[in-house]
Amino acid sequence: MSNETLQAIRGMNDILPDEAELWLWFEEVVRDWLASYGYRNIRMPLVEPTGLFKRAIGEVTDIVEKEMYSFEDSLNGDQLTLRPEGTASCVRAVLQHNLLYNAPQRLYYSGPMFRHERPQKGRYRQFHQVGVEALGFTGPDIDAEQILMCARLWKKLGLSDVTLQLNTLGDAEARLRHRAKLIAYFEQNLALLDAEAVRRLHSNPLRILDSKNPAMQAMIEAAPKLMAELDEAALTHFAAVQAILTQHGVAFEINPRLVRGLDYYNRTVFEWVTTRLGAQGTICAGGRYDGLLEQIGGKAAPAMGFAMGIERLLVLLQEAGMPLPKPKIDVYVVHQGELAANLAFVLAEQLRDLGLRVILHCGGGSFKSQMKKADASGAKLAAVIGDDEAAVNEVSLKPMQGGAQIRVSVQNIGATINKLIKQE
Ligand code: ATP
Ligand code: MG
Repeated sequence: MSNETLQAIRGMNDILPDEAELWLWFEEVVRDWLASYGYRNIRMPLVEPTGLFKRAIGEVTDIVEKEMYSFEDSLNGDQLTLRPEGTASCVRAVLQHNLLYNAPQRLYYSGPMFRHERPQKGRYRQFHQVGVEALGFTGPDIDAEQILMCARLWKKLGLSDVTLQLNTLGDAEARLRHRAKLIAYFEQNLALLDAEAVRRLHSNPLRILDSKNPAMQAMIEAAPKLMAELDEAALTHFAAVQAILTQHGVAFEINPRLVRGLDYYNRTVFEWVTTRLGAQGTICAGGRYDGLLEQIGGKAAPAMGFAMGIERLLVLLQEAGMPLPKPKIDVYVVHQGELAANLAFVLAEQLRDLGLRVILHCGGGSFKSQMKKADASGAKLAAVIGDDEAAVNEVSLKPMQGGAQIRVSVQNIGATINKLIKQE
């Protein structure tokens, strides 16, 4: 086997221990934040029947047309797909287990998603999302709450350079009226459309508005606006969302071109964007999807959700100067000699009983080389056991940041250690 085959798949990254410290920290912040809004965790499989995504996301979308990792189960011929996003699976699980039978649900999940895209900074083939879904809520209050939630998270994370873009996609009838007008308009401007736009003209004309082709921008700018077609109920809903945001001091920009990449959205849609990540500037995106449950074969129920890209958020944090968190080790146990080795083992277990984080030196070596490892581990204290100490069941505690070494008996070590560690 050549070395080449021993590489991870392009666009699928290893997250090495130093960086994983940042992920763990982030995941903890996110868990607390979600709990503070009453959201509960749900965990779905990474693989689903391909049909689920086709039905939920829509056949004429970037994801379904060209980004899905789909394959045939070689044992039974089933068509399967590595999940490209979480909403479809989450809704499938909610329907399958009848979670909405007597109460609405606030749910979240996190984990890897898979899309066959061109890898670049902030865009990977295996990437990670935190997804948040509220199911069974009709009113604009939940829309606003989810957006306020995001604002709170950015604050918790210390992110300042993110701005909120907001739009409404209205309801089905308004979208049908708009769609008809759009098709007519694009047909009048056929000569200006690129190949992709021509292909989508009848299948998904709304997506043409999302095109990044510079040559089409002026024509797109002048296209018929959905806003003009919205009915009273959708307008009232949108106004209520904006009123709550304004009341809470959350600034937003209304972007009528914000249509989102997925078919299932209606009414409120939003994106949190930054200018610091180039073309990968969207760190969080979501909206209402009242039609999705019925669309995938369930009983109709309103829903609202969003997902954020963890890689993009972490890059942003690091670009803002956030250092990688250090591993938290309390004690590194250094020892030499057979008697000392036995005592070191006992001590390490005893300290863990006290709730401390302990590395027991393994593999021998001189005191000097062991102390170097203790230093590199970031431990607050070294617990040193030589023959002298072992003979009388004692240990020398040495603060790694300097300070006097203290010799204590192993039996009474708890209080001394706690004191030394708190001093740090
Ligand atoms: P984009 O327009 O950047 O392709 P999208 O509209 O396809 O994004 P969503 O499906 O809304 O993205 O996913 C929500 C979030 O997940 C995005 O805002 C982004 O932060 C993140 N994300 C999406 N695709 C990727 C990817 N390939 N690599 C890393 N993060 C991603
Ligand atoms: Mg995309």
